[in-house]
Amino acid sequence: MIHSHIHVFIEVRDQKLMDVSLELLHEANELKKQYKNKGIDQKVIALLLGYQIQSMIETCYRFGADEVIVVDHEKLMYPTSQHTTAALVQCINQFHPEVLLIGATVVGRDIAPRVAAEVATGLTADVTILEVDPLENSNLLLMTRPAFGGNLYGTIICPDTFPQMASVRPSVFIKKEYHKPVVAPIHVTVNFDQNDWIEVVQRYHKPEQAIDLSKAKIILSAGRGVESCMDIVLETAHLLKATLGASRALVDRGVVSKVNQVGQTGTTVRPSIYLACGISGALQHTAGMDQAQTIIAINTDEQAPIFSVATLGIVADAKEVLLKLKEYI
Ligand SMILES: Cc1cc2nc3c(=O)[nH]c(=O)nc-3n(C[C@H](O)[C@H](O)[C@H](O)COP(=O)(O)OP(=O)(O)OC[C@H]3O[C@@H](n4cnc5c(N)ncnc54)[C@H](O)[C@@H]3O)c2cc1C
Repeated sequence: MIHSHIHVFIEVRDQKLMDVSLELLHEANELKKQYKNKGIDQKVIALLLGYQIQSMIETCYRFGADEVIVVDHEKLMYPTSQHTTAALVQCINQFHPEVLLIGATVVGRDIAPRVAAEVATGLTADVTILEVDPLENSNLLLMTRPAFGGNLYGTIICPDTFPQMASVRPSVFIKKEYHKPVVAPIHVTVNFDQNDWIEVVQRYHKPEQAIDLSKAKIILSAGRGVESCMDIVLETAHLLKATLGASRALVDRGVVSKVNQVGQTGTTVRPSIYLACGISGALQHTAGMDQAQTIIAINTDEQAPIFSVATLGIVADAKEVLLKLKEYI
């Protein structure tokens, strides 16, 4: 059996493409380049699953798909894990991908292990780095993910079974427009012939989260060092039009809500400016923010690890700096 091409699961939620799927299309193009350098031709193939999703096909080409495989079925309008898994498994059995990438959203985290089990392959979850093995004659994908609470990074390979599957967190990679030529998509008919395990009776919309950290351009992030002056932190954030971020220490202490948490078990962010106040810079925190364009760190301890990822480091009491900043603004 020949396995080829890099497939990306395109997640559609409420008739919208999830950003992580577009980020993965770009990353798949980066892998395609690495395969090409080894003389292996791969295509980037979008697996677009949903109902009445014709209008989203063009977006897949725009963001880097060479080909689009479409499964358009009414059961995929509000898909359950059962139907999404069945559709993906049937696509894998028909197209035999070399690599399959899935966004580690709530949906992706649910279906990726089910799909891997059904097609009897391995899954590397929560990957943050993807590379093609530089060794000659190797098609292997090197999938790196944090382990032991972010204190170690493990690189995992899947040498014996296909596809080589990885789930990847949102915002780890960036999306990029390619505007590839739009060609007719491949339509696949899938069978959902088992009894439905789950019946969707009614859907409720959770009220929109007031903030979406992953999209914030300026983040003022608070750590335990500013716990006693959160009023000043909030006022400064407001003046800077910044979104409030936080370390887990502050979230665990109930000072700030979980939606504000940045890091390995919070949100991965990529703002233009990340202002870290009184944050030590534990690996679990920096894993979620070290891709920010400019990182400004304020900490009283000049040895604090946050300074190793900072563009600009200020060794000072964060309260005093924030008061000066407020006055200046
Ligand atoms: C499995 C696991 C997952 C985790 N996930 C996350 C995660 O997603 N996000 C996360 O953030 N953490 C996470 N953590 C926790 C992480 O290891 C750290 O404990 C946490 O980030 C520390 O938060 P902190 O820097 O605010 O507090 P501390 O480590 O207590 O650091 C406080 C810092 O403030 C400085 N400081 C004190 N006073 C001042 C002052 N007046 N002005 C300026 N600086 C001052 C100190 O020098 C110190 O560096 C996780 C841990 C585990 C085990």
